Order: sequence, then structure tokens, then C-alpha cells
Amino acid sequence: MHCDDHTYARLASAKLALIRSQEILPEELIALVERVLPLLRQARAEAQVSLPPVEACATAEAMFAGSPLLLRQDFPFDLKQALGLIPTLLDILEQSGEAAAEAAQTLRQAMESGALDPEAALRGLAAGDDALFAHWRERLPGSPRALDFLATCALLPSLNVAAEQLAPRLPENLPHEHGHCPLCGSLPYISLLRDKEGKRYGVCSFCGYEHRLRRIACAYCDEADQNKLKLFRVAEYPGVRVDVCDTCNMYIKTLDHREMDNDTLAALDDMASVALDVLAQQQGYRRPTLSAWGF
Ligand SMILES: [Zn+2]
Ligand SMILES: [Zn+2]
Repeated sequence: MHCDDHTYARLASAKLALIRSQEILPEELIALVERVLPLLRQARAEAQVSLPPVEACATAEAMFAGSPLLLRQDFPFDLKQALGLIPTLLDILEQSGEAAAEAAQTLRQAMESGALDPEAALRGLAAGDDALFAHWRERLPGSPRALDFLATCALLPSLNVAAEQLAPRLPENLPHEHGHCPLCGSLPYISLLRDKEGKRYGVCSFCGYEHRLRRIACAYCDEADQNKLKLFRVAEYPGVRVDVCDTCNMYIKTLDHREMDNDTLAALDDMASVALDVLAQQQGYRRPTLSAWGF
């Protein structure tokens, strides 16, 4: 996502057109993402984060032993911006079909009456505390992930900026035999192959940081025995493969940058390859993370 605005807009609209043409995901969902993208792009350019002092971060020694730089609950984000994005995100949600509109109205009322504290939701998501979200999933059966979506999108821009600013604090030559993000410890939601040699990267499901992964190892349980790892491809989805692990029964999709003309936008490519999620899940494999959008 380092391209200029024009390139980004062109790329995003091509990918959205592709997702629409597949007729797998509901139009409401595609339109929702389409409306949210420019908002998040703008917010990313404006996010203000203050980084914790170096002493509050893990030591190089701890990081070499596998600790992330920061724990999720200590990861910086722009609270003011995130709170400010919520009303706009609610408006967008409200325009995204009946169920989403109903959920948006319920959430808005709950925030106005004090029954739902948006700051608590943001902090809960950051800390990986699911209780509040589980409660609202139950209360919004027509659109159960509405609050997840709201909090995820509100935090995403400043988490991305924080990750970018924290990355230089990672020690050089940090080994990458673990699949988790070295900045925040979260799991990747998708992986990428890039450069001529096809170096593999995981895209963090929390902060968005792209971190090195071992080429042949499970991103989730670190299994490296090739007999336990399989991958499959489907001709209709060039440049995407599914890596499955028979040790933990998880799968991750891998986007081959080199086969996609270096035009990956992971969060949209994830949506564009949802048919492969269906296939992997039909074979009994699970995906431990949500999409970049919180659903
Ligand atoms: Zn991360
Ligand atoms: Zn595994």
C-alpha cells in the first residue's frame, strides 16, 4: 500500500470489479468495502501516533527468543482519530443493506445512551479481548460482525502507521522461524511471495506489518516437516495458492506477487480469493484469523 493515490485507486477499483464479477460475496459487502477504502486511505495519511519509549519495548534478546516488540494491548494507535471515524463508519454501514442498517442504528443508539462505550470497544479489540464483541454479535444476529467491522476499520489506519514507525526498532537479522508478527505477536491473515527469489511474508491481522516467514513452514504452528504441509492451486485463481498444515489443520492463502504483476492489495486479494477459503474449509481446514475488515 505504498503506491500513490492514483495508482491505488485504479488498482482497488480493478480488484473490486473482479470481486463483483465472481458473484460470490454479497454486493452489500463489496459496496461497503468500496466506500470504506478511501476513508481509511485518507485516515492513514492523517493518523498521529506516539510511540512508546524504547525501554517499554522488548529487548533484542527477548525478540531473538520469539517475543514481539510490543504486546497488543500496549500497541500505540490514534484514539482520537479512531473515535472520530466511528460516526462516519456507522453512516457507511447504514447505507449497506437492511441488516447492516439495523445494526448501525442499534449501535448508534447504544453509544448515545451510554450502553456501548466506543473507547472500550477500541481498547478491547486492541487488547484482543473478545467479550464485548461476543455480546454484540449475539445482539445483532442480522449483521453479527458490525461492531468488529467498526472497531477494526477505526483502528486500522493508525495501527498501520504505528507498525511502519515501529518497524525500524526491530533488530537486524531477526530470525523468522515463528509465524507471528514480530511487532505485535498476532497471526498473519494471508501471506505473500515477493522478490525474484520469492521471499515469503505474512501480513499481520492486527497491525498490517508485512514480516518475513519461512518459505516452507506452517505460519500458524511452525511445522516445517514437508510431509505435513501441502499446497493447492485452482486454475481460475492465478497467483494464489493455499498452504495447508496437517499438524494444526489450519490453512493460509499465499499471494504470489510475481504472478500478479506486483499488484497485490492483500485485504482485497483476500476477498477476491474467497472461493479458495471455501475449498480449504470443505476439506476440513480452518482459518484462525478474520479478514482485514473484521468479518
Ligand atoms: Zn502485527
Ligand atoms: Zn500448522
